[in-house]
Amino acid sequence: MDWHRLESQTFWCVFCSAFLLTAMWETRHRNREWLIPTGKRWTNHFLLYFASSLWRMMIALMSPVTAALVAQQSGWGLFHQVRTPNWLAFVVTLLALDLTKYGMHRLFHALPFLWPIHRVHHSDPDFDVTPSVRFHPLESFLMQSADVGMILILGAPAAGVFAAGVLSNLVNVTQHANADLPEAVEARLRPLMLTARMHRIHHSDSWQDEHRNFGEVFPWWDGLFGTYTRVPERGAQMRVGLEGYQDERSMGLLEMLLQPLHAARRPQG
Ligand SMILES: [Zn+2]
Repeated sequence: MDWHRLESQTFWCVFCSAFLLTAMWETRHRNREWLIPTGKRWTNHFLLYFASSLWRMMIALMSPVTAALVAQQSGWGLFHQVRTPNWLAFVVTLLALDLTKYGMHRLFHALPFLWPIHRVHHSDPDFDVTPSVRFHPLESFLMQSADVGMILILGAPAAGVFAAGVLSNLVNVTQHANADLPEAVEARLRPLMLTARMHRIHHSDSWQDEHRNFGEVFPWWDGLFGTYTRVPERGAQMRVGLEGYQDERSMGLLEMLLQPLHAARRPQG
């Protein structure tokens, strides 16, 4: 099987479909009004995404599936040293890669030298599908490096890495929707994945909420480590974004790229 081709084609297919459907959904069932004109936000978020992709290409960072194939060919990693049933290696890979994202996300919030990089993602004064691509190039690089490291340690199978990538891509896009599922659907999905309603709490401007719901796909790590919440601190009064960044300046491409070099802005007023 040509895993490289399957990985890139599936990535774009899942990303574009999920993005378009989420954009249509939030246009019809908008949860909250936006402060900044949509055209400017979307243009600059995609320019940032382009910069991140270009940066990753320039430094030739291994894709997750490539890392799995390298581990397989070289006999590296736990699953190539210890006989493991395929189904178990697949399941452990799904869980371990999601746990890696949870752990990295917590580190981005906890470590003072990492927070300014991740702050770029949180400093959008609005919330819609486009913050799913609003990540500083350094954050994309560090997250992918952590994934690749875990894949090499495990000797993770390409099928498991591929499935984890599809799930993560799909959930990352849909959980940034500015729309909510009907409560009956939400209640069924909530034990299985972090929905948009749950992830939006993580984008609250309250410090307490911002340190909840760190997960990417599964809510189980937040449950296990005591960081899960279903209710924002200020309830319906919750605001998204970061204090000090509730203006159009936070949307500039250069501002987003250089933000990790700047001290945090003070809250206005
Ligand atoms: Zn965060």
